[in-house]
Amino acid sequence: MIQKLNPILEEATRKNRGVGAFTATTFEILRAIIEVAEKRGEPVIIKHSATYEDEVPLKYMGPVIIELAKKAKVDICPMLDHCKDTDYIKTGLKMGFTAVMYDGADLPFEENVKMGKEVVSLAKSANANIEASFGFVGGHKSEASTITDVEQLMKFIREVDIDALAPSVGNTHSTTAKQQLNFNLLKEISEKTNLPLVLHGAGTLPKEDIRRAIECGVRKINYFSNAGIKEVQDYLANSEVFTFSKMTKIVVDAIKKDIEEAMAVFSMK
Ligand SMILES: [Zn+2]
Repeated sequence: MIQKLNPILEEATRKNRGVGAFTATTFEILRAIIEVAEKRGEPVIIKHSATYEDEVPLKYMGPVIIELAKKAKVDICPMLDHCKDTDYIKTGLKMGFTAVMYDGADLPFEENVKMGKEVVSLAKSANANIEASFGFVGGHKSEASTITDVEQLMKFIREVDIDALAPSVGNTHSTTAKQQLNFNLLKEISEKTNLPLVLHGAGTLPKEDIRRAIECGVRKINYFSNAGIKEVQDYLANSEVFTFSKMTKIVVDAIKKDIEEAMAVFSMK
């Protein structure tokens, strides 16, 4: 069933565990996320990222995510990821997304606060929760990251009333760059802000780092699964006849395996 972000993160905090937040850029990924979450009986966050808008438009994927979330046997929070455009956010909230990640970390401080307040008020009027980044996590297009400045961050959260925080602590969205998390900084941010923390770019992190990050206060783990590509290449190279439906199944199976392993790590069992 459809759920907001806060109850899911509150439960994760009580249980000292993390919750997977997966980007559904294709229907195969969406189906795999729901099937694994239902099999494990665990809540999940399904993101539609504005970063991939050219490839996967909100107007097609949004309604599908919302409908399947409503019908699921577990709690699902449909979330808009990496948003800055208020019209885009309004459209998503109207569709039924229950959380928004506002990404203004690359803006000058005052502008970030102004825009952040605007997004918070939009989210609140739609009864949705809000995550904001502070400190820029780069790597989507090979941009450099900026590590979170704690003093500036405290000023930001006094002004902008957010529910979850995505800091920049050595993590990156890059799938090739090496990540070096600063766990002491993560812990300091968790203790000072008392907010559930979000780790972006966790898809390429080793299991041990993810577990350690959870122990430092990370509750939402943004995990981008790119599994299945090799399996599809093998299928195309080795089959005389191929169909998209068979290819779909190959991708779903590979993503399910990857997500199931990731969720086992996040649950800290
Ligand atoms: Zn991200």
